[in-house]
Amino acid sequence: MTSSELLAVIGDPVAHSLSPRLQTAAIASAGLGVRYVAMRVPAERLAGFVANARMGELRGFNVTIPHKEAVVSLLDALERPAAELGAVNTVVRAGSRLVGHNTDVLGFRRALERVSAARPRRALVLGAGGAARAAAYALRELGSEVAISARRPDQADRLSRVVQGVQTVPWDSRSVCAEGCDLIVNATPLGMSHLADESPLSQWPRARDVGVAFDLVYGHDTPFLRGAVMAGWTRVDGLEMLVQQGAEAFRLWFGLEADLDAMRCACTEEVSCSAS
Ligand code: NAP
Repeated sequence: MTSSELLAVIGDPVAHSLSPRLQTAAIASAGLGVRYVAMRVPAERLAGFVANARMGELRGFNVTIPHKEAVVSLLDALERPAAELGAVNTVVRAGSRLVGHNTDVLGFRRALERVSAARPRRALVLGAGGAARAAAYALRELGSEVAISARRPDQADRLSRVVQGVQTVPWDSRSVCAEGCDLIVNATPLGMSHLADESPLSQWPRARDVGVAFDLVYGHDTPFLRGAVMAGWTRVDGLEMLVQQGAEAFRLWFGLEADLDAMRCACTEEVSCSAS
């Protein structure tokens, strides 16, 4: 195998990542002889991993929790919107230079566009971590009003300094704020397997003409989405965003459009298998 035939996702933990499945499906569909693997990289080994990657072991790599911010200072250049957000989920090697990208922003936007052609007028984003930053950035690019609510006000304030024009709302006021919104985003881990019975919003207002509830959690029928549907909201789960951010990473590495259906199919199979 030559140096350009390997890709990876790095994180800690990383075994749960669906990226190997979805990228392998796209690689196979395109007939490329490339292998994509998950690599557990603890924080203390991140700098060493990046130094090796620069010397040409990999064509590129994805970055997941907890390294999306820490990897930024180890790279040679950042493309928009990674530079503004200070978070990278995709790295492309060009010779010995490593360039960081953030494809979560485009992934969020494309997933939203699949359920609603209309631009959200006012959105509430719950949580203020990396995924919330990407969602807020995408929504501001669309021209939506964006309110952020997080249990730690200092984290929400930090996000509002990174993404221009975002308002912050106290965590205790999130239900009241939700009443004036046509998009509500769960960007917390509430609803994931270890928090399967929890939702960041217990009281849902009745949906207006158009109301979209977007849960970034994927692979589970979450209490957040169940509550939303009961109140008449249109639901979107995190799988489509996962596929779309992966498809953009694939395009950056290979200059080719990924086979979205193959990627969706690979993720859905994995989710059905792990749920059973
Ligand atoms: P993160 O950086 O750790 O941020 C998580 C946010 O949720 C933080 O604001 C955190 O606050 C908050 N939070 C955690 N536990 C909470 C609780 N019990 N009650 C209220 N707030 C809580 O994580 P992330 O990378 O943004 O990921 C967030 C979610 O999005 C995860 O479920 C992840 O799998 C999903 N995600 C999906 C995609 C996709 O493509 N679909 C992409 C990225 C992420 P504290 O800091 O106070 O804990």
